[in-house]
Amino acid sequence: MAKKYDVIIIGGGPAGIFAALELLERTGKILIVEKGKSLADRVCPAKKQHIACAKCQPCSIVCGWGGAGAFSDGKLTLSTEVGGFLDEYISKDRLHKMIRYVDDLYLRFGAPEEVYGDDEEKVAEIEKKAVLADLRLIPSRIRHLGSGRTLEVLQAMKDYLEEKGVEVALNSLCEELLVENGVAVGVRLKGGAEYRAPYIIVGPGREGSEWLVAEGRRLGLKTTVNPVDIGVRVELPAEVMEPLTSVVFESKFIYYSRSFEDRVRTFCMCPYGEVVVENNDGVMTVNGHSHAHKKTANTNFAVLVSKNFTEPFKEPITYGKYIAGLANLLGGGVMVQRLGDLQMGRRSTPERLKKGLVIPTLPEATPGDLSLVLPYRHLLAIMEMLQALDMIAPGVNSRNTLLYGVEVKFYSSRLHLSTHLETKIPGLFAVGDGAGVTRGLMQASISGVIVGKEIKKRLGE
Ligand SMILES: Cc1cc2nc3c(=O)[nH]c(=O)nc-3n(C[C@H](O)[C@H](O)[C@H](O)COP(=O)(O)OP(=O)(O)OC[C@H]3O[C@@H](n4cnc5c(N)ncnc54)[C@H](O)[C@@H]3O)c2cc1C
Repeated sequence: MAKKYDVIIIGGGPAGIFAALELLERTGKILIVEKGKSLADRVCPAKKQHIACAKCQPCSIVCGWGGAGAFSDGKLTLSTEVGGFLDEYISKDRLHKMIRYVDDLYLRFGAPEEVYGDDEEKVAEIEKKAVLADLRLIPSRIRHLGSGRTLEVLQAMKDYLEEKGVEVALNSLCEELLVENGVAVGVRLKGGAEYRAPYIIVGPGREGSEWLVAEGRRLGLKTTVNPVDIGVRVELPAEVMEPLTSVVFESKFIYYSRSFEDRVRTFCMCPYGEVVVENNDGVMTVNGHSHAHKKTANTNFAVLVSKNFTEPFKEPITYGKYIAGLANLLGGGVMVQRLGDLQMGRRSTPERLKKGLVIPTLPEATPGDLSLVLPYRHLLAIMEMLQALDMIAPGVNSRNTLLYGVEVKFYSSRLHLSTHLETKIPGLFAVGDGAGVTRGLMQASISGVIVGKEIKKRLGE
């Protein structure tokens, strides 16, 4: 006999966790199925072995309790403008209220009080400078958890949920979503175990998005293709960005390239942080974080070029992986290049890197030539963006600036969902980055709350 629950949640990332936190008020019969490990056991062996990747399945960096951002520095964006597409499902006003609601929950579980970006006068000054540089600043307030504290907050949430009777099945991979007579009825795990529930919330993150799309296809669910963002991680002395990071912490700028009018943006600014490797199903890409308790001399951020593909192409994720795979092929992993070398049309070498002012925080990156990896329009757009940024933060376009490649944001294909984030199969909901509706901690968490509230209402009925 399959064990029965009120609600089964696939994925122990923020979307799944917040769905459970919301549902707790109404029911305790909740199961969270997570294919990765506990926070304490999420150890990447590659770091100890000093290799690029040990190709673990599942990858402990992005899978396990807390999801993909567990080891991130947890920047909670308190703005409706960024972090996902939820404003296409609920009104801006409701989204705004939800941000406050979810932010309060993060605070309750140990997030720090301080918020960046509250000084309106200084923000307006940056906005003015940005306009003159052909850039648009998206003002956004940020609560910064910090790498160490993100883990503490996520652990506190797990302890609370378990204390309240929520079952968390770690190391458990969901293979199949069970639908009978057109209605969601349960899940089947690897190994054959079946669990039943009238409500299934699927939040498998970007890492599990291909599985979700395949399941969706099997179940006759429609998807829309999201854009793919490809670019580099920029690393420079923290002093260069200090005039911006001291005011807004994460300055989000948008630029449209002169040559192709492609949308280029800065993303995930990490003051005094470090560059890290991210494993996307065996493809090595870059990312960055700022630690809550220790600082480096550098600031890093991504410069990403968005590309929306038109018919007949429907595989932006494959395209992104292909480009990142090229960097891996040439560099054996992540590649790093001095901007000066790129501008001079030559590769970086260990000797040339040593002559630079910036000491890489990711020493295992291979010095190389990003012009052999990035498509022409992407490379041009990135270089134009760096010139524009140099006008508001002199030093960005310096020959010493380091560029790590490739940073790719794989936004999952978007499932067709109702305003409650329910698929056309009654009882089957999809949340978070895996469903393609969010792209950050805050909106992923909110998507869980939206579904949690809806199911609570139905259970009440
Ligand atoms: C290095 C890094 C830094 C980041 N920094 C920030 C930041 O500072 N601010 C910000 O807003 N966002 C950040 N993000 C993005 C943020 O982490 C994601 O937007 C967020 O985690 C998405 O939440 P989610 O619950 O949708 O998915 P995830 O967090 O990816 O969680 C999904 C979970 O589902 C599990 N899963 C997948 N498939 C299955 C299956 N079939 N069966 C069982 N379990 C499954 C996975 O193991 C995973 O744990 C960062 C991401 C990374 C990788």
